[in-house]
Amino acid sequence: MDAMEVLTNLEHLQPFFQPIFSADDHVVIGYEILGRYVSDSGVESLGSFFQDESVPEEYRVEVDNYILRLALEKIMDNDDESLIFINRDPNLLMLDHGAGFLEIVKEYVSEENMTRIVIELSEKKFDGDMESLHHLLSYYKTYGIKVAIDHLGADSHLDRISTLSPHILKVNLEQLNQGWDTHKDVITSIGVLARRIGAILLFESIETVYQLQFAWRNSGRYYQGFYLSEPNATFIEREQLKERFRKECHSFILAEKRSLEQRFTKKKQLQEEIRLIVQKTKISGADIEQLKALASSLEAFSFRLYVCDEDGFQTSPNILKKHGEWMIQEEYQNKNWSWRPYFLKTIIKMRNDQKGELSDSYSDIETGETTRTFSIPLNESEYLFVDLSYDYLYEHDVF
Ligand code: CA
Repeated sequence: MDAMEVLTNLEHLQPFFQPIFSADDHVVIGYEILGRYVSDSGVESLGSFFQDESVPEEYRVEVDNYILRLALEKIMDNDDESLIFINRDPNLLMLDHGAGFLEIVKEYVSEENMTRIVIELSEKKFDGDMESLHHLLSYYKTYGIKVAIDHLGADSHLDRISTLSPHILKVNLEQLNQGWDTHKDVITSIGVLARRIGAILLFESIETVYQLQFAWRNSGRYYQGFYLSEPNATFIEREQLKERFRKECHSFILAEKRSLEQRFTKKKQLQEEIRLIVQKTKISGADIEQLKALASSLEAFSFRLYVCDEDGFQTSPNILKKHGEWMIQEEYQNKNWSWRPYFLKTIIKMRNDQKGELSDSYSDIETGETTRTFSIPLNESEYLFVDLSYDYLYEHDVF
């Protein structure tokens, strides 16, 4: 998009509105304002114009504000209560300490409608003072304006984002499309942050039903993308997708319930099998001979077992399978494991329930392989820990 062409033909600029849907009611809850250049040759996005740093800042601000005015006028004429998502480049916003933006918004939006405004910022390219931005956003919030952080991904600074206390976190699926599995940890971290600060997760660039399902499974509450609705010059019916969306979500729910049920059953079976073997060997505590006998009975499941007391001190050596042989690692005796995640929590649970526990899967510190630990009380003060082998988990699909 040629910058001069944009600047000399402002009358070709138009706001477009992309609907954002909610998973609670399956209806449109808001629109993101997007700048478009409309001419005889078609409709073009202004994205590249706004990202072009060779265009002087004041021109980019001018175009941004020009579109914002047109958009707000149109939205306020449209009689509904939907949220209004407005993109701002924080570097440009801070040029006048946010005053120009607020002035325009106040010009078109009444006091009681201020809570409908959502300002979308990406913190990635912000090179100004975080503290000042934080102050400005806090000031905006006193008007009821909401804050969304745009373009979250692997290169986001989650600590910085958390200090801005946003209401909404926007995750762009397009940026994550090279194999979602590798981005699982990123999505998980963003999800944890959202829960901790009480922010809503919005997934954008949803282009397929699979991406919609992915968003739903990763706790997305708001959705945006071509699969649902493309940006338009006008608004759509609030309930336009309600039936289809509801049906799709229902199929996700059924599939997820089936998969959870299967996993639950498999986990329960595994737990029960190991429990019976442990019970049969009548192991009573940290006795090496008994542990070795137990290890060979657990051959198919485990690569390591040991006994700890309730404070996490290991009261037995490790019985470890190496190159197909069980061996004893004396040096592990008396080590303390209370610092490990969930360790004491699991002890308390076992002490109270007096039954076995199967941990979630995690990466073993020594082998680096995915494992799960089965643990069970042996007597008043000791607990048996059985680390399950990767091969077993993989073959039986109990990750
Ligand atoms: Ca945006």
